[in-house]
Amino acid sequence: MRGFKSLARPASRALSSRSKQFTPAVTHSVRHASTSKHPQGFEAPTPADLTELRERVQEFTRREIPEELAAHTDKSNAFPNEMWPKLGEAGFLGMTADEAYGGLVMGYQAHCVVMEEMSRASGSIGLSYAAHSQLCVNQISLNGTAAQKQKYLPGLVAGTTVGALAMSESGAGSDVVSMRTTAKPVDGGHLLNGTKMWITNGPDADVIVVYAKTEPEKGSKGITAFLVDTKSDGFSCARKLDKMGMRGSNTGELAFSDVFVPSENILGQVNGGVRVLMEGLDLERLVLSAGPLGIMQAALDVALPFTHQRKQFGSPIAHNQFVQGKLADMYTKMQASKAYTYNTARAVDEEGIIKTQDCAGAILYAAERATECTLDCIQLLGGMGYVEEMPASRLLRE
Ligand SMILES: Cc1cc2nc3c(=O)[nH]c(=O)nc-3n(C[C@H](O)[C@H](O)[C@H](O)COP(=O)(O)OP(=O)(O)OC[C@H]3O[C@@H](n4cnc5c(N)ncnc54)[C@H](O)[C@@H]3O)c2cc1C
Repeated sequence: MRGFKSLARPASRALSSRSKQFTPAVTHSVRHASTSKHPQGFEAPTPADLTELRERVQEFTRREIPEELAAHTDKSNAFPNEMWPKLGEAGFLGMTADEAYGGLVMGYQAHCVVMEEMSRASGSIGLSYAAHSQLCVNQISLNGTAAQKQKYLPGLVAGTTVGALAMSESGAGSDVVSMRTTAKPVDGGHLLNGTKMWITNGPDADVIVVYAKTEPEKGSKGITAFLVDTKSDGFSCARKLDKMGMRGSNTGELAFSDVFVPSENILGQVNGGVRVLMEGLDLERLVLSAGPLGIMQAALDVALPFTHQRKQFGSPIAHNQFVQGKLADMYTKMQASKAYTYNTARAVDEEGIIKTQDCAGAILYAAERATECTLDCIQLLGGMGYVEEMPASRLLRE
């Protein structure tokens, strides 16, 4: 197996042991190998692999993302940037990337497991994690040339550089293909002009996947994806946004003023950006749907012990059927959401089937259930649900 047993070890040693054969505890029926959405040599993980991975991520989050850090990240609205190399060293930044660039080649179920556990510890850190490892790293893995991968992936996977993806604009959100950022051809490349809004990791990023109109009159057929180095002249992060939730997942408004992007930094084909964008969105929604799963588990992590310890009328409040009913609803909503996300991810890993409606459905369903579960968590905690000493309000905002 692609030795995630080495996840807790330094990247250099982890890499050298990744080729070692892993003997799973459980034997399963035939698993299909690589699809166009996985690197060469990919084999879908077994349930035992995923369980072991989950335990590794939990060890990491217990050690590196305790509640105090999650609360501080929320309060300070600042990402703990020292986290990036730690995530890289653990192997989590290249879940779907090729071994040649330091990746673990473990596919989308595994990526969902890491995203879920990361978000259980801190939704904000989870969101920034996914913007880096899925929106940026995976887009480069799937669409990059060998030279682009060699240039960008090792640093991104090691966590020594930070990645982001910029499609949305203040006037182009749901209707993203109405974007107005332009890329004008010039000698040796393109000049980018425009702004991008709500870009996760935008204030910290070293490299950003940016979509721009190369031929505006062609509408969706005139969009191209570019890899933009943020050190380029003319690039700036105009401001960092002050959000309701996911605080500390740094979100920015970006400005491009005659930013020169060399031709070798075109990701995919000129005017082929909408395919890169739309196919990427399916997998982005799928992996991001694991965020609300982690937040639901976090709500249960808070509500279960609290309702068993808190006594009113002489007994723990959890002894009341109404309270038990709320806990049962929270658990059931979480499990139903998990089933949807992981079934959709399994179809990608094992059969190469990506259903757009299920990638969107999984995140829609999980996000709405997570909002309900976190509201229930606040209610179950009574007055303690309303004060910042407990994480309940942070979970709702996330
Ligand atoms: C925390 C956070 C992180 C983000 N990170 C990134 C990132 O990293 N990169 C990036 O590119 N973008 C990012 N975004 C932007 C995000 O993708 C957009 O906010 C999203 O696409 C919605 O666009 P909008 O905000 O313009 O809403 P709008 O499109 O203006 O929608 C407003 C409301 O109208 C509804 N609506 C719109 N069209 C229709 C319709 N046809 N029928 C019915 N209802 C409709 C919507 O459902 C919504 O309720 C992020 C946003 C947030 C909040």
